[in-house]
Amino acid sequence: MQFFADTPLLDLAPYAGLRTEVRAFLAEERERAGIDSWVGSWEGFDRGFSARLAERGWVGMAIPQRYGGHEKGLLERYVVLEELLAGGAPVAAHWIADRQTAPLILRFGTEEQRAWFLPRIATTEICFAIGMSEPDSGSDLAAARTRAEPVGNGWRINGTKVWSSNAHRDDWMIALCRTGGRTGDPGEGRPDDRHGGLSQFLIDLSAPDIAIRPIHNLAGDHHFNEVVFEDHDIPADRIIGNPGDGWRQVMSELAFERSAPDRFLSTFRLIVELVRAAGPEPDRLAAGEIGALVARLAAVRLLSIQVAGALDRGETPNTEAALVKEVGTALEQDTPEAARRILAETPPGDRAALLEELLAYDVLHTPSFTLRGGAREVVRGIVARGLGLR
Ligand SMILES: Cc1cc2nc3c(=O)[nH]c(=O)nc-3n(C[C@H](O)[C@H](O)[C@H](O)COP(=O)(O)OP(=O)(O)OC[C@H]3O[C@@H](n4cnc5c(N)ncnc54)[C@H](O)[C@@H]3O)c2cc1C
Repeated sequence: MQFFADTPLLDLAPYAGLRTEVRAFLAEERERAGIDSWVGSWEGFDRGFSARLAERGWVGMAIPQRYGGHEKGLLERYVVLEELLAGGAPVAAHWIADRQTAPLILRFGTEEQRAWFLPRIATTEICFAIGMSEPDSGSDLAAARTRAEPVGNGWRINGTKVWSSNAHRDDWMIALCRTGGRTGDPGEGRPDDRHGGLSQFLIDLSAPDIAIRPIHNLAGDHHFNEVVFEDHDIPADRIIGNPGDGWRQVMSELAFERSAPDRFLSTFRLIVELVRAAGPEPDRLAAGEIGALVARLAAVRLLSIQVAGALDRGETPNTEAALVKEVGTALEQDTPEAARRILAETPPGDRAALLEELLAYDVLHTPSFTLRGGAREVVRGIVARGLGLR
């Protein structure tokens, strides 16, 4: 494993102008919302914000023009993602579709699926949920039991998805379902062909026979859902790729999910406010703590940008993507602790209320960051396997 040793380092400096434009747009949006700062991109589900962002051409940047996208280079897109997250902008309405659904449909979907879904993703007319996890299938995704059986001219779905972020607000879900193979359950025989029996389906969440039930998170917010399918019928053309290709497809989707700046910028707003509070002449403790956070941030950002380059070349850099997630989310989880140590010595300054709000949000939300997109132990296992250590 070389970790891009032979690849020239990608450089975002030429896109400073775009960065300034996005910052100006975000300043306008904060003014429109009448706020000084956003707290928490992930809880921010704002279709209006996403639509205005799309009007500026900053959603669907990786989608080809013939499918209604903007066909921009990966570095331009990366700059926009960084600015949105660094600003704490409310990105939840369009993020999933833009990050992983669009590339999935582009790569594995039929021409009809591309022509219908991609332009609607680029305008943010439709929002997507992820239907991977199940009550007994999280880290071990191949244990998925939700079944899709061929009936007449389509498929019949039965099963339960869980932890589906924003499914109560989204329009569509991509659900990983079992179309063959075995789960390994007692009574189902040997767990052979667990991967080969999985397929992905496009599910219209507005169907009245789908039950979407709330699950409240640690902070008391309704973000997660349980989504139950009971004899839910869908047309034949809603399968993505061929029956049995779901595992390979979902793995490529996870590389997008694990490597982007959303895996290390979730607590960036807090770091910025700490720098502000510490001022131009920070004491030794604040300088050391902030310096350590920023050094880690710089290293993981560099790796994340190189992974983005590999994805753009059509590669599936799963090991490197897993490493970004592991290193990035560890940094995010360490930030509130560092903040507490700094604030014990450093007065919070004139933005004390915002600092407190950011810190409270991060304390409640960072524990989940090493779970979403795959639990830490599992992600570390992927890195170890990629390095030939297991
Ligand atoms: C904020 C957030 C948003 C999410 N959004 C979505 C979503 O939109 N759609 C979706 O489908 N899912 C979503 N999830 C679910 C997420 O993908 C799962 O929580 C994750 O895959 C872990 O699965 P689990 O919760 O079932 O935990 P488990 O897999 O049961 O793991 C529990 C513990 O056991 C450990 N463990 C499990 N297997 C091993 C092993 N082989 N070796 C060592 N340790 C192991 C884990 O590391 C973990 O600490 C979200 C989760 C969070 C926190």
